[in-house]
Amino acid sequence: MLTVSKVAAGSGGLAIRHAEPREPGPGEIMLKVHAAGVCGTDMQIYHSYGAIAKRVKLPTTLGHEACGTVVQTGLGVDRVSVGDLVSLESHIPCGRCKACHTGRAHVCPNTRYPGIDIDGTFAEYVTVPAEIAWVNPKGTDPALAALLEPLGIAVHATLEGSGVSGQTVVVNGCGPIGLMNVAVARHFGAHKIIAFDPNPGRRAIAERMGADIVADPSSVSPPHLVNESTRGDGADVVFEYSGNEQGALNCFAMVGSLGDVRWCATPGQPMTFDFGAWRKGRPTIYNIHGRRIWSTWHAMAPLVYEKKIDLEPVISHRLPLSEGVKAFELIVAGAAIKPLIMCS
Ligand SMILES: [Zn+2]
Ligand SMILES: [Zn+2]
Repeated sequence: MLTVSKVAAGSGGLAIRHAEPREPGPGEIMLKVHAAGVCGTDMQIYHSYGAIAKRVKLPTTLGHEACGTVVQTGLGVDRVSVGDLVSLESHIPCGRCKACHTGRAHVCPNTRYPGIDIDGTFAEYVTVPAEIAWVNPKGTDPALAALLEPLGIAVHATLEGSGVSGQTVVVNGCGPIGLMNVAVARHFGAHKIIAFDPNPGRRAIAERMGADIVADPSSVSPPHLVNESTRGDGADVVFEYSGNEQGALNCFAMVGSLGDVRWCATPGQPMTFDFGAWRKGRPTIYNIHGRRIWSTWHAMAPLVYEKKIDLEPVISHRLPLSEGVKAFELIVAGAAIKPLIMCS
């Protein structure tokens, strides 16, 4: 079968590699993959950058945001059946640690991922533990089903802390999950949504997803704009998706007293943090990682099934597996938002 794999260290180092599908062992399932999204984590591996990339042995098939049909089940699998259309929770928690035992498996310190620790989903077939499969209703659009994993981060962030209902929220950075967060915040009743991104194309999509105000943080002062839009009160909730130091500083300058900063980005570099300013403004910082397993999925998946939110604007490209490397190159060139690799 065809795969998109990391085959060489250093930036790039991807290839279309031929590999044999792996027979499912006990507790595992084999999927025929339909669609798989390329995300920021895949890009870190592409660039051989950061702790996650160091874990990837060469060669490894990349990809973890995916949907496929179960074609084979291993011994003891009873929660999914051959023929089921499933999306994958990308975290494979250990099930044995304190986090897993106390309903916090999304922050299991022993988590493994397809596309990092085992071969991933940019392939015609992938074999994964059945425990990470979420069964979709028949007829679900595979492209949308592949987006449930990243959508889950936006839903997790939206429902955390004080939620968003009736509140003024800022989405600070409009990558794919920031854009999804705009639509999710709108759905869950945000009063006003202000979105920042330097890219005009992304700002246009943020408007389509439901933002009331969009602005370029490199040409306006985000704290000033938020201050004016809230009669000096600041935002109730700020979602941090920028991942850079200035963006992070802006978050604390935009959030009102006792507001929430929902921290969703992983900064590429260490950054200075002003604890004095944090004490003064008294926001609560929520560290958002992944999705709550499975409560976020239960809140999130029906939004897609029942067309409560439209994710179509986020999908920038659909590429066949044979052109999968191009999806990465489009992101590097700044020409893509969320490219999907259509594996079958
Ligand atoms: Zn991802
Ligand atoms: Zn665990």
